[in-house]
Amino acid sequence: MSFASIDPGTGELVARFAAHDDAEVERRLAAAAAAASSWGRRPVAERARRLAAAAERLEAGKGELAAIMTGEMGKLLRAAVAEVEKCAWVCRYYAEHAERFLAPEAVAADWPEARVRFDPLGVVLAVMPWNFPFWQVFRFAAPALAAGNVGLLKHASNVPRSALAIERVFAEAGLPAGCFQTLLVESARVEALIADPRVAAVTLTGSEGAGRSVGGAAGRAIKKCVLELGGSDPFVVLPSADLERAVATAVEARTINNGQSCIAAKRFIVHRQVYEEFERAFVARLGALVVGDPRDPATEVGPLATPTILEDLAGQVERSLAAGGRLLIGGRRLDRPGNFYEPTAIAEPPPGSPAFEEELFGPVATLLRARDLDHAIELANATPFGLGAAIWTGDRREAERAEVELEAGSVFVNAMVASDPRLPFGGIKRSGFGRELARAGMLEFVNVKSVVYG
Ligand code: NAP
Repeated sequence: MSFASIDPGTGELVARFAAHDDAEVERRLAAAAAAASSWGRRPVAERARRLAAAAERLEAGKGELAAIMTGEMGKLLRAAVAEVEKCAWVCRYYAEHAERFLAPEAVAADWPEARVRFDPLGVVLAVMPWNFPFWQVFRFAAPALAAGNVGLLKHASNVPRSALAIERVFAEAGLPAGCFQTLLVESARVEALIADPRVAAVTLTGSEGAGRSVGGAAGRAIKKCVLELGGSDPFVVLPSADLERAVATAVEARTINNGQSCIAAKRFIVHRQVYEEFERAFVARLGALVVGDPRDPATEVGPLATPTILEDLAGQVERSLAAGGRLLIGGRRLDRPGNFYEPTAIAEPPPGSPAFEEELFGPVATLLRARDLDHAIELANATPFGLGAAIWTGDRREAERAEVELEAGSVFVNAMVASDPRLPFGGIKRSGFGRELARAGMLEFVNVKSVVYG
């Protein structure tokens, strides 16, 4: 068993790594368990200093780290640089706030003294996806490490160089041995890792299928679990919206990360009064995007991460058109090496078709026409997912209604859905459960311990 790092822009094999064998996995589990007992007892300020050092390492190495990401999953190089900078931000954010977030809280109760403490759980296993190979890992690792946990990373099979580079960043930041390690193992090994008594909890960011496996395994082992799964975010546009801004943001929100973001806007639900105008402007902008080499600064959309992702997406488009969706633009792979797919828009696919029901993980937009606000909200919620949602309107009352009624972990009004260290991030329905980021994310992996002195 080995893990290949393949350049999605060319199809070339860049590196190959042997999987860790049983003995190596055992050595790393033992090192994690040993590190957990000492790291968790160090002062928060010391852990915070190590995170600040990790932020410095990230910034110092951002060119090289970004090139690794682009070279193995195809994101635009400038987006990869921004991703490394965001990882430094999240490290600094928790370095700065960890002491306050974890400070024991005094409680007035029937005893002379009572308080709530926030103690680490121990070893947290992180099963992570390839689409934001650094950010997904750091947004788990920064709060978890600051809280005194240690991390074991099982990264997606197609990003082994990113996985090893992240392990190096933490080692160079001076984290004690065993505090953050990468396991080069296939997903079939995850259930046994979750069941291992030395692992206290698990977090997964990935697909619904992986969520069922990991959530099931955590349930069987009775261990804490956070699931960040897929999404099919609605992007609602009402007549009072600034249409020009809405269209520009819509195209960016659908094609960011080459269309492979869980919180990419995927379904554009447009009020019939402005539908035709929106469709025309959206298609024109989508068609003008420059598709190509992710290292070229002129490129706006790069390749998909793997040939399988491209084939799956092409199949979803074909089935949506066969079911009655109208192809507005695109709909083909590009005739060149690498996993390139044309930016695509499908209008009014019927309920039950992939473009209506499923997550499309690539630069393919679904356009739906709404009769009025009620219908727009109904369409927005007509999905098994509930990750993010955006609404564009100039009317505060419409926005405040949508804020309550949209079924999602976050609602953005006149702005693109984004993750931010200061705001809790996560989903409802089949997008998963639990939160990352902000204080809420840090508290997912702590023992909220009541202490009473009689
Ligand atoms: P994926 O196939 O589910 O893989 C994610 C991780 O889970 C990988 O490390 C994968 O390992 C592992 N995995 C897959 N099947 C597993 C199983 N049965 N048991 C244990 N581990 C398993 O997802 P992906 O294709 O990499 O990522 C895309 C998906 O992630 C999309 O649905 C996207 O929306 C979602 N996502 C969600 C968020 C969020 O915050 N909610 C953020 C980003 C992405 P292998 O690579 O070895 O199979």
